[in-house]
Amino acid sequence: MEAEDLNREEPEEPPSDNEEALPHPYPFLNNTFLFRQRYFPKAAESEWNDWRWQLRNRITSSSMLARMFQLSDAERSAFQFREATLPMAITPYYASLIDPENPDQPIRRAMIPVASELLVSPGEARDPLGEDGHSPVKGLVHRYPDRVLFLVTDYCSSYCRYCTRSRMVGKRKCGGKKQWQKAIDYIFSHREIRDVLISGGDPLTLSDAQLDWLLGQLRAIPHVEMIRIGTKAPMVVPQRITEGLIGILKKYHPLWMSIHCMHPDELTEEARQACMRLADAGIPLGSQTVLLAGINDTVETMKRLMHGLLKIRVKPYYLYQCDPIVGSSHFRTPVSKGLEIYQGLRGHTSGYGVPTFVIDAPGGGGKVPLIPETVVGRDGSDLLIRNYEGNVYRYPDKVSEKDRVCGEVFPCE
Ligand code: SF4
Repeated sequence: MEAEDLNREEPEEPPSDNEEALPHPYPFLNNTFLFRQRYFPKAAESEWNDWRWQLRNRITSSSMLARMFQLSDAERSAFQFREATLPMAITPYYASLIDPENPDQPIRRAMIPVASELLVSPGEARDPLGEDGHSPVKGLVHRYPDRVLFLVTDYCSSYCRYCTRSRMVGKRKCGGKKQWQKAIDYIFSHREIRDVLISGGDPLTLSDAQLDWLLGQLRAIPHVEMIRIGTKAPMVVPQRITEGLIGILKKYHPLWMSIHCMHPDELTEEARQACMRLADAGIPLGSQTVLLAGINDTVETMKRLMHGLLKIRVKPYYLYQCDPIVGSSHFRTPVSKGLEIYQGLRGHTSGYGVPTFVIDAPGGGGKVPLIPETVVGRDGSDLLIRNYEGNVYRYPDKVSEKDRVCGEVFPCE
């Protein structure tokens, strides 16, 4: 592979379009085909199904948006100060899942900026997880003892308005072979690193050749036992999961994948096929979902999402409390909402369908799991535990002599 290819520029933005808004001819049906016919009539099916075409034809300007969707005042005003915010980009495929008339539709809220993004609330920060402070070399975060986060690009096919890394994504400052090599050298020289999570930005926006090189370099390091890829591609550009990509990924097992998804509206036939191809390649799939106010913050929505993921062979992995990035207050819920959702899932559905609810501790404390209280206390040696219906049961615990003598409700220290 040529060095030039490894350092290729990201796909060019399509020219902005100033055509007038067209009337919306169809009710919102999740109808990707009608959307394509209407707004990309010249695109052949083979182009639409080509991930590179999807990236080249992303929707990136307010004028392009206004042609497709009836923008609300909050959406329009967000563009007046656009330089200050995360860039906007939406693949045509993902845009086809957006309701043209309803500004509250989940995918629309996750993708189209609103004026609230410009408000800074107490406790918010550019880098709430303190990643920059745990970065020994550019693009690498070493926070936990035995694993690292390798940020291989800051480019995404579509930008989520609540992105934890909104400080860096879309800025075109991260990536390229020179930077990757420094990170790989660091991993090589730290024998305690047994797990590398490749993330970004979205690593699956890199070319096959780039991914092949990166994975090959990491797999050649003897102490790297597992490699993980964090991506949203199967949801926003499922066309990326090609036979060619699968052929590359399969060479580097054990390889795991965490798929970012946030609402059942994303679970289309295209997304299903993409996940099936990955699962058929022997890649264990887990989901990562951010809890978002007004988008997925009900037990009913979250249960549909988790059940839908299981049906496409993705194990619900993490449910994140939304990180307090700058301008995120309209997305954040109280922590009690996440606990309520967890309680509404645990015991009420298969254990495989229950993700771990976590807060990524601000300042770099790492993920802290939160679960509603299930240990009520002790009665003698019996442990009193509460089940999913709120009923209390006894378990004849095997307590130490010290605990028995102590005779208190909770074990003595
Ligand atoms: S795909 Fe991931 S990295 Fe990219 S904008 Fe969304 S959350 Fe951020």
